[in-house]
Amino acid sequence: MTITEKYIEIIKPSLSPCQKKKFRDGMGWTLACPFCKDAQKRESKSNEKCASLYPIEGTFTYFFSCNRGLNGGVQGVQSCNHKMRFSTFLKQHHQTVYKSFVREKELAKQNYQPKFTD
Ligand SMILES: [Zn+2]
Repeated sequence: MTITEKYIEIIKPSLSPCQKKKFRDGMGWTLACPFCKDAQKRESKSNEKCASLYPIEGTFTYFFSCNRGLNGGVQGVQSCNHKMRFSTFLKQHHQTVYKSFVREKELAKQNYQPKFTD
């Protein structure tokens, strides 16, 4: 499991309803968009899984996009009208989790560096 996948697991309970789905480049999730679901007037609309979190081959990360936002729907909101990296999504939506995510990424990077000293 990659660090990104681990953090998706961490925030998943807060992304409910969300559902595993197969995307072109791998498994991802469809979920109710945390940015615009509160702007919906009807409950059925706010629980609609209009957003996706999915991997893109070769990028080593996941991307978040919201259909309502990207399609310029009237009830999409500013925050969700562009595709964003998982890290950006985390930063905007889960500040505290984002901080540990960045820290863990940094640590992993340091561990990858080859040691020339011995
Ligand atoms: Zn949205």
